[in-house]
Amino acid sequence: MTVLYLVIPCYNEQEALPVSAPRLMDKLNSLISAGAIGDESRILFVNDGSHDKTWEIITQLHDKDKHYSGVNLSRNRGQQNAMLAGLETAARFADAMITVDVDLQDDINAVDEMLEKYESGCDIVYGVRNARKKDSFFKRFTAEGFYKVINKMGGEIIFNHSEYRLMSRRAVKALSEYKECNLFLRGLVPMIGYKSDVVFYEREKRIAGESKYPLKKMLALAYEGITSLTLTPIKIIRSAGVLFTLLGLAGLAATITLYCLGIAGSVWILLSALVAMSGIIEFSVGIVGDYVGKTYFEVKHRPRYFISESLVDEENERS
Ligand code: UDP
Ligand code: MG
Repeated sequence: MTVLYLVIPCYNEQEALPVSAPRLMDKLNSLISAGAIGDESRILFVNDGSHDKTWEIITQLHDKDKHYSGVNLSRNRGQQNAMLAGLETAARFADAMITVDVDLQDDINAVDEMLEKYESGCDIVYGVRNARKKDSFFKRFTAEGFYKVINKMGGEIIFNHSEYRLMSRRAVKALSEYKECNLFLRGLVPMIGYKSDVVFYEREKRIAGESKYPLKKMLALAYEGITSLTLTPIKIIRSAGVLFTLLGLAGLAATITLYCLGIAGSVWILLSALVAMSGIIEFSVGIVGDYVGKTYFEVKHRPRYFISESLVDEENERS
Protein backbone atom coordinates (compact mmCIF):
# COMPACT_ATOMS: atom_id res chain seq x y z
CA MET A 1 0.00 0.00 0.00
CA THR A 2 1.18 3.53 -0.79
CA VAL A 3 3.18 5.18 1.96
CA LEU A 4 2.44 8.89 1.91
CA TYR A 5 4.41 11.64 3.64
CA LEU A 6 2.96 15.12 4.02
CA VAL A 7 5.96 17.44 4.02
CA ILE A 8 5.34 20.69 5.87
CA PRO A 9 7.85 23.56 6.09
CA CYS A 10 7.49 25.60 9.28
CA TYR A 11 9.12 28.90 10.12
CA ASN A 12 8.04 30.57 13.38
CA GLU A 13 4.69 28.81 13.23
CA GLN A 14 3.88 28.37 16.94
CA GLU A 15 0.43 29.90 16.35
CA ALA A 16 -0.53 27.91 13.24
CA LEU A 17 1.01 24.56 14.17
CA PRO A 18 -1.28 23.61 17.11
CA VAL A 19 -4.33 24.38 14.93
CA SER A 20 -3.19 22.70 11.75
CA ALA A 21 -1.48 19.60 13.20
CA PRO A 22 -4.74 17.91 14.36
CA ARG A 23 -6.44 18.76 11.08
CA LEU A 24 -3.59 17.22 9.13
CA MET A 25 -3.70 14.18 11.39
CA ASP A 26 -7.46 13.80 10.82
CA LYS A 27 -6.79 13.77 7.11
CA LEU A 28 -3.97 11.25 7.40
CA ASN A 29 -6.05 8.98 9.66
CA SER A 30 -9.06 9.10 7.40
CA LEU A 31 -6.88 8.11 4.43
CA ILE A 32 -5.34 5.26 6.45
CA SER A 33 -8.77 4.02 7.62
CA ALA A 34 -10.11 4.18 4.07
CA GLY A 35 -7.22 1.98 2.96
CA ALA A 36 -5.95 4.67 0.58
CA ILE A 37 -2.50 4.81 2.23
CA GLY A 38 -0.48 2.60 4.56
CA ASP A 39 -0.12 3.03 8.31
CA GLU A 40 3.59 3.87 7.90
CA SER A 41 2.49 7.18 6.36
CA ARG A 42 3.61 10.30 8.24
CA ILE A 43 3.23 14.02 8.67
CA LEU A 44 6.78 15.32 8.36
CA PHE A 45 7.32 18.83 9.73
CA VAL A 46 10.49 20.63 8.69
CA ASN A 47 11.47 23.27 11.20
CA ASP A 48 13.26 25.92 9.18
CA GLY A 49 15.39 27.47 11.94
CA SER A 50 12.45 28.99 13.84
CA HIS A 51 13.15 31.34 16.73
CA ASP A 52 9.94 30.51 18.56
CA LYS A 53 8.55 27.28 20.05
CA THR A 54 7.91 25.56 16.72
CA TRP A 55 10.43 22.73 17.23
CA GLU A 56 9.27 22.14 20.81
CA ILE A 57 5.71 21.77 19.56
CA ILE A 58 6.81 19.35 16.82
CA THR A 59 8.73 17.27 19.40
CA GLN A 60 5.70 17.16 21.71
CA LEU A 61 3.45 16.08 18.84
CA HIS A 62 5.89 13.29 17.94
CA ASP A 63 5.98 12.11 21.56
CA LYS A 64 2.18 11.84 21.55
CA ASP A 65 1.79 10.14 18.17
CA LYS A 66 4.51 8.64 16.00
CA HIS A 67 2.56 9.55 12.89
CA TYR A 68 3.90 13.04 13.53
CA SER A 69 7.51 13.23 12.52
CA GLY A 70 9.99 16.04 12.05
CA VAL A 71 13.41 17.30 11.06
CA ASN A 72 15.07 20.37 12.45
CA LEU A 73 17.24 22.48 10.15
CA SER A 74 20.33 23.95 11.79
CA ARG A 75 19.23 27.47 10.81
CA ASN A 76 16.74 29.30 8.63
CA ARG A 77 17.37 28.34 5.00
CA GLY A 78 14.10 29.52 3.45
CA GLN A 79 10.98 27.66 2.39
CA GLN A 80 12.50 26.24 -0.81
CA ASN A 81 15.41 24.59 0.98
CA ALA A 82 13.16 23.48 3.83
CA MET A 83 10.87 21.73 1.37
CA LEU A 84 13.79 20.06 -0.39
CA ALA A 85 15.15 18.84 2.96
CA GLY A 86 11.71 17.43 3.79
CA LEU A 87 11.27 15.79 0.39
CA GLU A 88 14.69 14.18 0.43
CA THR A 89 14.12 12.88 3.96
CA ALA A 90 10.65 11.60 3.09
CA ALA A 91 11.91 9.88 -0.09
CA ARG A 92 13.89 7.51 2.16
CA PHE A 93 10.65 6.12 3.56
CA ALA A 94 7.72 7.05 1.34
CA ASP A 95 6.34 6.19 -2.10
CA ALA A 96 4.71 9.58 -2.53
CA MET A 97 5.09 12.94 -0.78
CA ILE A 98 2.94 16.02 -0.77
CA THR A 99 4.32 19.43 0.16
CA VAL A 100 1.80 21.69 1.85
CA ASP A 101 2.12 24.86 3.92
CA VAL A 102 1.44 24.69 7.63
CA ASP A 103 -1.14 27.51 7.51
CA LEU A 104 -3.49 25.23 5.52
CA GLN A 105 -4.26 27.89 2.94
CA ASP A 106 -4.18 25.03 0.47
CA ASP A 107 -7.25 22.80 0.79
CA ILE A 108 -6.03 19.58 2.39
CA ASN A 109 -8.98 17.69 0.90
CA ALA A 110 -7.38 17.95 -2.53
CA VAL A 111 -4.98 15.25 -1.28
CA ASP A 112 -7.53 12.54 -2.16
CA GLU A 113 -7.60 13.53 -5.80
CA MET A 114 -3.82 13.90 -5.88
CA LEU A 115 -3.49 10.35 -4.60
CA GLU A 116 -5.93 9.06 -7.21
CA LYS A 117 -3.85 10.65 -9.95
CA TYR A 118 -0.70 9.18 -8.41
CA GLU A 119 -2.29 5.72 -8.32
CA SER A 120 -3.26 6.07 -11.96
CA GLY A 121 0.37 6.61 -12.94
CA CYS A 122 1.28 10.28 -12.40
CA ASP A 123 4.65 11.07 -10.86
CA ILE A 124 3.82 14.71 -10.21
CA VAL A 125 0.43 16.23 -9.38
CA TYR A 126 0.27 20.02 -9.20
CA GLY A 127 -2.23 21.74 -6.93
CA VAL A 128 -3.65 24.70 -8.87
CA ARG A 129 -5.72 27.49 -7.32
CA ASN A 130 -9.15 27.79 -8.86
CA ALA A 131 -9.46 31.53 -8.53
CA ARG A 132 -7.88 34.06 -6.25
CA LYS A 133 -11.14 35.45 -4.94
CA LYS A 134 -9.83 35.61 -1.39
CA ASP A 135 -6.58 37.37 -2.31
CA SER A 136 -6.38 41.15 -2.32
CA PHE A 137 -6.38 42.83 -5.75
CA PHE A 138 -2.68 43.66 -5.30
CA LYS A 139 -1.72 40.07 -4.45
CA ARG A 140 -3.78 38.65 -7.33
CA PHE A 141 -2.45 41.16 -9.84
CA THR A 142 1.20 40.72 -8.89
CA ALA A 143 1.02 36.94 -8.51
CA GLU A 144 -0.82 36.26 -11.79
CA GLY A 145 1.36 38.82 -13.56
CA PHE A 146 4.43 36.96 -12.32
CA TYR A 147 3.27 33.63 -13.82
CA LYS A 148 2.57 35.32 -17.16
CA VAL A 149 5.89 37.22 -17.28
CA ILE A 150 8.01 34.22 -16.34
CA ASN A 151 6.28 32.01 -18.93
CA LYS A 152 6.77 34.68 -21.62
CA MET A 153 10.45 34.71 -20.69
CA GLY A 154 10.70 30.99 -21.34
CA GLY A 155 10.43 29.57 -17.79
CA GLU A 156 7.87 26.76 -17.79
CA ILE A 157 5.87 27.13 -14.63
CA ILE A 158 2.31 25.96 -14.01
CA PHE A 159 -0.14 28.88 -13.86
CA ASN A 160 -1.45 29.51 -10.34
CA HIS A 161 0.44 26.58 -8.84
CA SER A 162 2.63 27.35 -5.85
CA GLU A 163 4.16 24.65 -3.66
CA TYR A 164 1.21 22.35 -3.05
CA ARG A 165 2.12 19.25 -5.05
CA LEU A 166 2.48 15.51 -4.94
CA MET A 167 5.72 13.92 -6.07
CA SER A 168 6.55 10.26 -6.40
CA ARG A 169 9.78 8.93 -4.95
CA ARG A 170 11.40 8.75 -8.38
CA ALA A 171 10.39 12.36 -9.09
CA VAL A 172 12.05 13.46 -5.83
CA LYS A 173 15.15 11.42 -6.73
CA ALA A 174 15.19 13.24 -10.08
CA LEU A 175 14.81 16.58 -8.31
CA SER A 176 17.82 15.71 -6.17
CA GLU A 177 19.89 15.55 -9.36
CA TYR A 178 19.51 19.32 -9.65
CA LYS A 179 22.43 20.42 -7.53
CA GLU A 180 21.90 24.18 -7.73
CA CYS A 181 21.76 26.07 -4.45
CA ASN A 182 19.53 28.91 -5.70
CA LEU A 183 16.38 26.85 -5.64
CA PHE A 184 13.14 27.68 -7.40
CA LEU A 185 11.17 24.46 -7.17
CA ARG A 186 8.21 25.67 -9.19
CA GLY A 187 10.55 26.02 -12.13
CA LEU A 188 12.60 22.88 -11.56
CA VAL A 189 9.84 20.32 -11.01
CA PRO A 190 8.23 20.78 -14.46
CA MET A 191 11.72 20.32 -15.97
CA ILE A 192 11.81 16.74 -14.66
CA GLY A 193 9.19 15.84 -17.21
CA TYR A 194 7.63 12.68 -15.80
CA LYS A 195 3.89 12.16 -16.28
CA SER A 196 2.00 14.88 -14.45
CA ASP A 197 -1.48 16.25 -13.93
CA VAL A 198 -3.20 19.04 -12.03
CA VAL A 199 -5.80 19.18 -9.29
CA PHE A 200 -7.82 22.33 -8.68
CA TYR A 201 -8.61 23.71 -5.24
CA GLU A 202 -9.78 26.84 -3.47
CA ARG A 203 -7.15 28.85 -1.61
CA GLU A 204 -8.20 29.88 1.88
CA LYS A 205 -7.02 32.49 4.37
CA ARG A 206 -4.16 31.64 6.75
CA ILE A 207 -5.57 29.74 9.77
CA ALA A 208 -3.37 31.49 12.35
CA GLY A 209 -0.21 33.55 12.66
CA GLU A 210 1.16 35.90 10.05
CA SER A 211 2.57 35.47 6.57
CA LYS A 212 6.28 34.70 6.54
CA TYR A 213 6.47 36.20 3.06
CA PRO A 214 6.58 39.98 3.24
CA LEU A 215 6.69 41.87 -0.07
CA LYS A 216 10.51 42.00 0.02
CA LYS A 217 10.81 38.19 0.27
CA MET A 218 8.14 37.74 -2.43
CA LEU A 219 10.02 39.99 -4.85
CA ALA A 220 13.27 38.18 -4.05
CA LEU A 221 11.60 34.83 -4.90
CA ALA A 222 10.17 36.23 -8.14
CA TYR A 223 13.63 37.53 -9.11
CA GLU A 224 15.12 34.16 -8.18
CA GLY A 225 12.57 32.47 -10.44
CA ILE A 226 13.36 34.62 -13.45
CA THR A 227 17.14 34.53 -13.08
CA SER A 228 17.36 30.83 -12.30
CA LEU A 229 15.24 29.80 -15.28
CA THR A 230 15.94 32.19 -18.12
CA LEU A 231 18.52 34.41 -19.79
CA THR A 232 15.80 36.72 -21.11
CA PRO A 233 16.88 39.81 -19.10
CA ILE A 234 20.29 39.60 -20.81
CA LYS A 235 18.63 39.15 -24.19
CA ILE A 236 16.51 42.25 -23.55
CA ILE A 237 19.68 44.26 -22.82
CA ARG A 238 21.29 42.95 -26.02
CA SER A 239 18.26 43.78 -28.16
CA ALA A 240 18.00 47.26 -26.63
CA GLY A 241 21.68 47.73 -27.52
CA VAL A 242 20.99 46.85 -31.16
CA LEU A 243 18.00 49.19 -31.23
CA PHE A 244 19.97 52.14 -29.82
CA THR A 245 22.87 51.49 -32.18
CA LEU A 246 20.54 51.55 -35.19
CA LEU A 247 18.69 54.63 -33.93
CA GLY A 248 21.97 56.42 -33.27
CA LEU A 249 23.36 55.56 -36.72
CA ALA A 250 20.16 56.66 -38.44
CA GLY A 251 20.21 59.86 -36.38
CA LEU A 252 23.84 60.37 -37.29
CA ALA A 253 23.13 60.06 -41.01
CA ALA A 254 20.17 62.44 -40.74
CA THR A 255 21.94 65.06 -38.62
CA ILE A 256 25.08 65.05 -40.82
CA THR A 257 22.86 65.65 -43.86
CA LEU A 258 20.96 68.41 -42.08
CA TYR A 259 24.26 69.92 -40.91
CA CYS A 260 25.63 69.96 -44.48
CA LEU A 261 22.44 71.65 -45.65
CA GLY A 262 22.94 74.19 -42.88
CA ILE A 263 19.65 73.31 -41.16
CA ALA A 264 20.88 71.67 -37.93
CA GLY A 265 23.76 72.52 -35.60
CA SER A 266 26.70 70.20 -34.91
CA VAL A 267 25.40 69.46 -31.40
CA TRP A 268 22.79 67.14 -32.94
CA ILE A 269 25.51 65.13 -34.63
CA LEU A 270 27.24 64.77 -31.28
CA LEU A 271 24.00 63.68 -29.64
CA SER A 272 23.31 61.02 -32.29
CA ALA A 273 26.88 59.75 -32.01
CA LEU A 274 26.38 59.48 -28.27
CA VAL A 275 23.19 57.40 -28.73
CA ALA A 276 24.97 55.11 -31.21
CA MET A 277 27.96 54.71 -28.89
CA SER A 278 25.83 53.85 -25.87
CA GLY A 279 23.94 51.37 -28.05
CA ILE A 280 27.20 49.70 -29.07
CA ILE A 281 28.33 49.52 -25.43
CA GLU A 282 24.99 48.06 -24.33
CA PHE A 283 25.06 45.52 -27.16
CA SER A 284 28.60 44.50 -26.16
CA VAL A 285 27.55 44.12 -22.53
CA GLY A 286 24.65 41.95 -23.75
CA ILE A 287 27.02 39.67 -25.66
CA VAL A 288 29.34 39.33 -22.66
CA GLY A 289 26.20 38.67 -20.58
CA ASP A 290 25.23 35.90 -22.97
CA TYR A 291 28.53 34.12 -22.41
CA VAL A 292 28.30 34.63 -18.65
CA GLY A 293 24.69 33.38 -18.74
CA LYS A 294 25.64 30.25 -20.65
CA THR A 295 28.47 29.60 -18.20
CA TYR A 296 25.96 30.10 -15.39
CA PHE A 297 23.74 27.36 -16.77
CA GLU A 298 26.72 25.08 -17.39
CA VAL A 299 27.95 25.33 -13.81
CA LYS A 300 24.54 24.27 -12.54
CA HIS A 301 25.26 20.82 -14.02
CA ARG A 302 21.59 20.19 -14.48
CA PRO A 303 20.66 16.66 -15.52
CA ARG A 304 20.14 16.46 -19.27
CA TYR A 305 17.38 13.85 -19.32
CA PHE A 306 15.44 11.28 -17.36
CA ILE A 307 14.11 8.05 -18.86
CA SER A 308 10.51 7.56 -17.86
CA GLU A 309 9.90 4.12 -19.41
CA SER A 310 12.31 1.60 -20.85
CA LEU A 311 11.89 -1.56 -22.91
CA VAL A 312 15.58 -2.41 -23.09
CA ASP A 313 16.77 -5.85 -22.20
CA GLU A 314 18.59 -5.14 -18.92
CA GLU A 315 19.69 -8.78 -18.54
CA ASN A 316 21.80 -8.67 -21.68
CA GLU A 317 23.68 -5.59 -20.54
CA ARG A 318 27.43 -5.82 -21.16
CA SER A 319 29.64 -4.92 -18.30
N1 UDP B 1 8.38 29.09 5.51
C1 UDP B 1 9.58 28.45 5.75
N2 UDP B 1 10.73 29.19 5.79
C2 UDP B 1 10.74 30.55 5.57
C3 UDP B 1 9.50 31.18 5.28
C4 UDP B 1 8.35 30.42 5.25
O1 UDP B 1 9.63 27.24 5.97
O2 UDP B 1 11.82 31.17 5.63
C5 UDP B 1 7.15 28.28 5.47
C6 UDP B 1 6.02 28.79 6.34
O3 UDP B 1 6.13 28.35 7.67
C7 UDP B 1 4.80 28.23 5.62
C8 UDP B 1 5.22 28.25 4.17
O4 UDP B 1 6.64 28.33 4.17
O5 UDP B 1 4.50 26.90 6.00
C9 UDP B 1 4.62 29.40 3.39
O6 UDP B 1 4.80 30.61 4.09
P1 UDP B 1 3.62 31.65 4.28
O7 UDP B 1 2.33 30.95 4.51
O8 UDP B 1 4.02 32.63 5.33
O9 UDP B 1 3.61 32.37 2.84
P2 UDP B 1 2.33 33.05 2.10
O10 UDP B 1 1.27 32.00 2.03
O11 UDP B 1 1.94 34.22 2.91
O12 UDP B 1 2.87 33.42 0.75
MG1 MG C 1 0.56 30.93 3.56
